[in-house]
Amino acid sequence: MTSSFDIHIFGDGAGETILIEFENEKLGIVDFGYKHFLSWFDKFLKSKSSPTIEFLLWTHPHDDHTRYLSDLLIYLKNNNYTIKNFFRFPFNKFKKLSELLDIGLEQKYEIIVNSPFIYTEKAKPKYLLDLCNQISELKKDGIILNSEGIKFSTELYRKDLLQKELSIHCIAPTEQEIDKYIDLFQSFLEKRFPASELYLDSGKHNIISTAICIKFGENNIILGGDVENQAWSNAMNIERGQEYTCCNLALLKAPHHGSETAYSKENWNNWGQDFHTAVTTYNKSGLPKSQGIQNILNHTKKIYILKDLHNNLLLGEKLRLMSGKLKSQEDITTYSKATNHIKFSISLNGDIEQEWL
Ligand SMILES: [Zn+2]
Repeated sequence: MTSSFDIHIFGDGAGETILIEFENEKLGIVDFGYKHFLSWFDKFLKSKSSPTIEFLLWTHPHDDHTRYLSDLLIYLKNNNYTIKNFFRFPFNKFKKLSELLDIGLEQKYEIIVNSPFIYTEKAKPKYLLDLCNQISELKKDGIILNSEGIKFSTELYRKDLLQKELSIHCIAPTEQEIDKYIDLFQSFLEKRFPASELYLDSGKHNIISTAICIKFGENNIILGGDVENQAWSNAMNIERGQEYTCCNLALLKAPHHGSETAYSKENWNNWGQDFHTAVTTYNKSGLPKSQGIQNILNHTKKIYILKDLHNNLLLGEKLRLMSGKLKSQEDITTYSKATNHIKFSISLNGDIEQEWL
């Protein structure tokens, strides 16, 4: 039994993955977009005596969060690991989409090929179809024990540790976002407007991105997925006064790569003033931008931007140009030390330590 737990955040500008290790080698993995995660994870697992995969969480079907999910599932199967829970955005709420994902894939392929909502870069829609098939097979084989769609307030894990409770629950999307996404998809299926128009708008996947709150002792941690501002506002409105409330953060994985569209002053004020923020970059969209970083620095005591393999000079330049706005020289120093992997160790009494690995 440990009195702390660890969060490893990986990112290289093309994708992100997060590993949570809690309570005696219990593991949760959030997203699958970081290229070198699997080779690291293999070594990590071999260093443990009896690791268990409590959950995989797939926040939303964008390429930078999805690309290496298939490889991870193959690896886990070949090495005889079971996955207790596979959590995903709530596709099954949408009957037509559920049909697409569970049966008659070949017949429905044409619809999916044209769908802006089933989009990944790697072999595009076919990749996602194969992935859905793979997940169904793993359920039949007993590798994935439970698979379910999650939404606001879904509990991913809860356990008492050393008289303190550890709980992990979902704080986005709300029903409102799910309904909006379903409406958009429905409109597409009914071809009310040209597919080309919607295809350009594949960013709409973020509407149903999940975010989670981890509560441990006095600590609150948010892993923000790619949730953007309207979805945050809706979630915060429901959250107020409920047991799901996630304020006074110790640590935040900035939503949507620190973008301005994921920022709302009200939410961040609610999250506190004294927390650590990790930002994964997304170089296709040039995220985070200078304004996004400045927004974050108005609220947080430390910002850790993971190293962007493709666009590091540009990011360095952004930080240099705004260095007057940085709270301390230490922030810049931290940036120059950045790698593609940062580990946060969170202790029961609220202390956080971080290390670039
Ligand atoms: Zn993303």
